[in-house]
Amino acid sequence: MKCHTDYLYFNTKKRHEFVNITDKVQEVIDSSGVQDGMALVSAMHITAGVYVNDAESGLIHDIESWLKEIAPTNKNYRHHMTGEDNGYAHLWNLIVGHQVTVPITKGTLDFGPWQQIYYAEFDGIRKKRVIVKVMGL
Ligand code: ZN
Repeated sequence: MKCHTDYLYFNTKKRHEFVNITDKVQEVIDSSGVQDGMALVSAMHITAGVYVNDAESGLIHDIESWLKEIAPTNKNYRHHMTGEDNGYAHLWNLIVGHQVTVPITKGTLDFGPWQQIYYAEFDGIRKKRVIVKVMGL
């Protein structure tokens, strides 16, 4: 049983950004040497998400619009009484989820044809990171 940990770093140019991290996660799997197992990919923040879905630009736009409908960015959240202005970003984190577990077979991500791993930044323009923990044989 091998266990390998690495981190991916982000400092997005925009406050909201959807970053395809599939290749970066595969690079971590490559350096782990794990052939059969799984990887945990987890945002180390409460205002970002990690999900698996299509890398289609229309869909990514739809996801952001959908999040804005459910939890608008301009709403006066109670969280803002702390002096912060990112109440929506915490809620988006809860909707999207902060981590995924992905399967590894023969040393590669064992995905369906359209599955990609995304880091979803909801309150960016600052340094953030994702932990990738690879476990297996
Ligand atoms: Zn906050």
